[in-house]
Amino acid sequence: MISREAAARAALVAGWAFFTLATAALSVWIARKEALPLRRNRIGYWMLGLVLVILGEGLFLAQRPVMGGGLRVTGVLLSAIGLQAVVLPEMTRTLRVGLSYLASRGLALAVYTLVFLGVYGGFSMFSQGPFFPPVLVALLAAAAVVFVLNPVLTGLQQTIKDAIAGKDRDAARLLSQYTQGITHITDLKLLATRMVGTANQALENHRGFLFIANTERDADGDSFYRLRGEQGAGGDRPPDGLIAEDSPLALYFRSERHPLTAAELREAPHFQELAESDRSWLKDLDAELLVPIYARDEWIGLLVLGPKNSGAAYSQEDLNLAGILADQTGVAMENVRLVEGLTRLNDQFRRAYSALEQAKQQLERLDRTKSDFISIASHELRTPLTVISGSSQMLLADPALQENPYTQKLVDKIVTGTARMHEIVDSMLDIAKIDTRELQLDPQPIAVSGLVRSVCAGLDEAARERGITLEVEEMAGLPHIEADVDALRKVFYHLVVNAIKYTPDGGRVTISGHPVGAERGAFAEGGVKVTVADTGIGIDPRYHELIFTKFYQTGELALHSTGKTKFKGAGPGLGLAIARGIVEAHTGRVWVESPRCDEQACPGSRFHVVLPRRQPARLPEPSRMPTPSRPLVLH
Ligand code: ADP
Repeated sequence: MISREAAARAALVAGWAFFTLATAALSVWIARKEALPLRRNRIGYWMLGLVLVILGEGLFLAQRPVMGGGLRVTGVLLSAIGLQAVVLPEMTRTLRVGLSYLASRGLALAVYTLVFLGVYGGFSMFSQGPFFPPVLVALLAAAAVVFVLNPVLTGLQQTIKDAIAGKDRDAARLLSQYTQGITHITDLKLLATRMVGTANQALENHRGFLFIANTERDADGDSFYRLRGEQGAGGDRPPDGLIAEDSPLALYFRSERHPLTAAELREAPHFQELAESDRSWLKDLDAELLVPIYARDEWIGLLVLGPKNSGAAYSQEDLNLAGILADQTGVAMENVRLVEGLTRLNDQFRRAYSALEQAKQQLERLDRTKSDFISIASHELRTPLTVISGSSQMLLADPALQENPYTQKLVDKIVTGTARMHEIVDSMLDIAKIDTRELQLDPQPIAVSGLVRSVCAGLDEAARERGITLEVEEMAGLPHIEADVDALRKVFYHLVVNAIKYTPDGGRVTISGHPVGAERGAFAEGGVKVTVADTGIGIDPRYHELIFTKFYQTGELALHSTGKTKFKGAGPGLGLAIARGIVEAHTGRVWVESPRCDEQACPGSRFHVVLPRRQPARLPEPSRMPTPSRPLVLH
């Protein structure tokens, strides 16, 4: 008969055995099915914990509660760590390191025990005699330990460590070679090849990508990171990663600065929110380890590594090494980024330049069309105008018409209007000649003062009508210059007409002249400077250059009038363009000085013309002036 106690005990043991075996069988089945190295590592911890628990419980049942309890607690702790810890050291490596530690310490223990036993024996045998005092025996034993035993023991320990835990990686040498090799690299592909090659060697894997991180904006104006990558060891370029600025991944890399394992990505709570697109991008890359790269505290890139060749998980030592590798790469990566930025900028410049070039060509085409139009229009207008002018002159002289004051007045108006039209058509012809570089000059020695005076004499009456004092200062000391008298007359005519036109009634226009010293080139023998100053409305400095382009006017179109000297009566906008064309054809310069445009305060303007005494043997062509964007208005 079996006692009730024994039966209960047997049932307990059978139940325990059943559940234990079932748990073990289930664990083995799961472990066999699992392909992911990181999960296999985790299951390894669980299995070891399970074995310890089973052993502990076995001891417990065999009436060894203390040892059994200890093993059980250790087993439960190990299993809990295996299940809970986010980053787990690789188990086989940890076991190997532990085993090699125990083996080498055990060896040292055994050897030292033997040595001490030997020394103890030696003492008892030799230390009695007169020739072997105890000090000498101790000295000999210590010398044997220091010179023979220790080196042998160290060698043996290293051999054991190499055999069990594996050889140490020469990471320092590898990293220093890498750093030297990448300092001058400015090409992402080359950098990726070097970096991934080094990572492959140092971390024992075979797959890796290097990505450059740049911020961009999408159509809605939201910022995101574009990770543009290169595969390290040949092969295709990986797809770009597009990561939102507030994605957990971007937040982690901006703040944490640690390598990130796939296990952490899968299991850490703050990555549960990771967008599906980010996950599938990492999955496509078969990413097992993500190592951020920084330059000047800014996240600028990412090294993505595949699984280890051994299928094991990346150890803490691997992560440290990967971190150092990334730090070394920061500077080179920044260089690549800068060069890429410069190349992009260069491309933009090139595109902008070609657009500018096209616009310039178009403007030149337009300018040519405009010049052609002016040329044709002025030529075509000239003949009928001459007919009208001649006929109106004849009408004016007709005694029959002179008797009727009304018709007389009408004919007078026709004659004045036709003369003004003549002037405008002449100006158009002049500008057409300047534009087409057909301006013919016949330079003769002339006295500028005389020319200026004769121009002013022609405009004296117009100035008087407006109550403007037209004054020509004494210019007796001015040297004669070589110039085309008709052309130069037009220059001063336009300047003085303008001065009268833009000066309110009662103002003053003063023309002065000074000799100028010798300069290089055309001014080798010096020249003259004539200034037309007025007390008019002035010119805004923004327009000081533009007013010299044809058809440019700062005034309003509505102010156009037939009166050529009426206050602010805008003309066709050709006077200054003709003046500059002629002056430049004489290798001279013309420009304006005026503080501002103010119709109340009237700060005035000063137009300066500088002309050389002698003309060079061959006159240069007048410059083709840029065309302003104002519609052509013929009066
Ligand atoms: P316009 O036929 O309109 O006078 P110009 O080429 O002679 O054409 O002058 C161009 C523009 O320069 C004028 O519309 C005027 O705005 C400005 N300008 C020229 N001379 C003067 C001046 N003495 N004072 C103020 N503005 C002037």
